[in-house]
Amino acid sequence: MSLFHDPVSVPALNLKAQYQSIRDEIEPVVRGILESQMFVLGPEVTRLEAEVANYCGAASGIGCASGSDALLLPLLAIDIGPGDEVITTPYTFFATAGSIWRTGAKPVFVDIEPDTFNIDPVRIEAAITPRTKAIIPVHLFGQVAEMGPIQEIARRHGLTVLEDAAQAIGSAYHGTRAGTLGDVAAFSFYPSKNLGGFGDGGMVTTNHPQLARRITRLRVHGMEPKYHHHEVGFNSRLDAFQAAVLRVKLRHLDAWTSLRRDVADRYRNLFASHGLEEMVGLPIERQGNFHVYNQFVIRVPAFLRDSLRDYLTARKIGSEIYYPIPLHLQVCFASLGYKPGDFPHSEAAARETIALPIYPELTDAEQRYVVGSIRQFIDEFAYPSRKSDRAA
Ligand SMILES: *Cc1c(COP(=O)(O)O)cnc(C)c1O
Repeated sequence: MSLFHDPVSVPALNLKAQYQSIRDEIEPVVRGILESQMFVLGPEVTRLEAEVANYCGAASGIGCASGSDALLLPLLAIDIGPGDEVITTPYTFFATAGSIWRTGAKPVFVDIEPDTFNIDPVRIEAAITPRTKAIIPVHLFGQVAEMGPIQEIARRHGLTVLEDAAQAIGSAYHGTRAGTLGDVAAFSFYPSKNLGGFGDGGMVTTNHPQLARRITRLRVHGMEPKYHHHEVGFNSRLDAFQAAVLRVKLRHLDAWTSLRRDVADRYRNLFASHGLEEMVGLPIERQGNFHVYNQFVIRVPAFLRDSLRDYLTARKIGSEIYYPIPLHLQVCFASLGYKPGDFPHSEAAARETIALPIYPELTDAEQRYVVGSIRQFIDEFAYPSRKSDRAA
């Protein structure tokens, strides 16, 4: 029997707790936008662009409507289109490959490393053809991809590297932050990301002035200056409310990241003290990487995964499957001709992984409840015969 009462519920994500901690800072800036009646782009967005660029160590930041657009805009700005191929991972959020498809180019998938879930650089070279124009490594769950070898391959083949850093603001590779580890990078401010707005939003960072200028133009219908259209872009503007909120939150980001890392450490200790380390695969932080834990994703045998999720749901513990269907098996990409078995590590990850609650405000008691529940699940389902032993 626990000495403490178990928490009533542990949601997968709890944005209310964070809002309460910064409400006093947020409300005045939101009121400021209301008074200014300047809602789209404008000075708040320009300030956020400078601050995010500075945070990432990049020369330029270009705000846009979403992380998905932050992927699409750079692809268009480097003239990716029909007939081109772009290499990426099939184990990611849909937008990574969706953005490639939107340009008319062909996504070419390369399997992941089973331990980090990130694209395996060793397999990239075999996927390069004369049509390959770019590589999009994804810094999945908050850990950067193996950028050294990726940069080296890209340089050798003359390819552009677009980082999908949607889940990884503040993460770093050998001391360099995501956002300058390739030629250009995409960030998302979707509320569940580590730096989340109060709606949709995104940002591109780059050190290339020409690229920055073209992206800035593409997000406003290819217009520069007003009503002079050099090319056909689209509307992907960031709004001032998001920028104002994000500027407040950016000041807290490093403290929140540090709390996320503490939460990850506590999970590791709890899994160890519950004797679960053999049964449950825990996320690794590779040497030289600074992981920001947008997600804490564990791995269990495939036959247990869905029942574990049901068990946690019944105990009011939130969880999520990122991602149940790898992109090469999505119906909309059937014409690419991939089949089950093509990317075994991605397919195994899709069957075996489950994301546990993680956010800066998650408490020790909540984590004990989560891991204690997983221990009970294993006892009841995986080793039913042991149940009596443990009760004894
Ligand atoms: C969230 C996310 C995106 C897309 O960002 P939106 O802001 O939702 O459009 C792209 N790639 C990855 C890996 C993501 O997690």
